[in-house]
Amino acid sequence: MASPAYEQILKVQAVDLQLTQLRHQHEHHPARRTVAEAEQTVAALALDLLSIDDRRHELDRDRKRLEDEAALLADKRTGIDRKLYGGEVTASKDLLALQDEAAMLKTRQDEVEDRELEFMEQLEEIDGERAALEDQRSNAESELSGLRDRLDEALSGLDAEIEAAEASRAALAADADPVLLARYGELRDQYGGVPVARLVNGACDGCHIHLSAMAVDQMTKLPDDAVVTCEECGRLLVR
Ligand SMILES: [Zn+2]
Repeated sequence: MASPAYEQILKVQAVDLQLTQLRHQHEHHPARRTVAEAEQTVAALALDLLSIDDRRHELDRDRKRLEDEAALLADKRTGIDRKLYGGEVTASKDLLALQDEAAMLKTRQDEVEDRELEFMEQLEEIDGERAALEDQRSNAESELSGLRDRLDEALSGLDAEIEAAEASRAALAADADPVLLARYGELRDQYGGVPVARLVNGACDGCHIHLSAMAVDQMTKLPDDAVVTCEECGRLLVR
């Protein structure tokens, strides 16, 4: 049976190991990656929406240009009609020329208006695409929000466990032998968080090397709370 002082240090070590695991779980929780992926999806959809808005803007600008051109042609035709029917032009040669020009303008205006119609159809298509994208984004956002809630829940559960472990660590440390506790603290990093080993059947269960009979004999003669280390690996040894 190990001395109470060493048993206490073993308890501190167990809680410290638990704390290390909990902090690792907190930092590397799998839901963090899921949330990050969902964030990327939302960001990508936002970019898609921006680019579709750019495309729509360009198309509408081109459509507007055609609309203006058609209006200009219509104005010109009105002017020609005024001349044709206003009575100022009477020579039949001039009237014919005006009629030709009016017909040419009408053809041109029809062409421009047809092209404008094509642009309007494309704009309608884009509006449909945009609405579908907006739906996708809205779904992705609510999925993200759900994933964030789940992550927060998981993390606050871990926070509570960490807090409880820290409290019990503090209580255990307060009752521990200060010299052993200090030695334990110094050795922790060096031994990956497990600087205390047990002596089992003459072997250190940290490095699994059998100690010399003389070393074991010397150890048994020391007082219960003496600082005893494995001669092979340097861990604190619980006898
Ligand atoms: Zn050892």
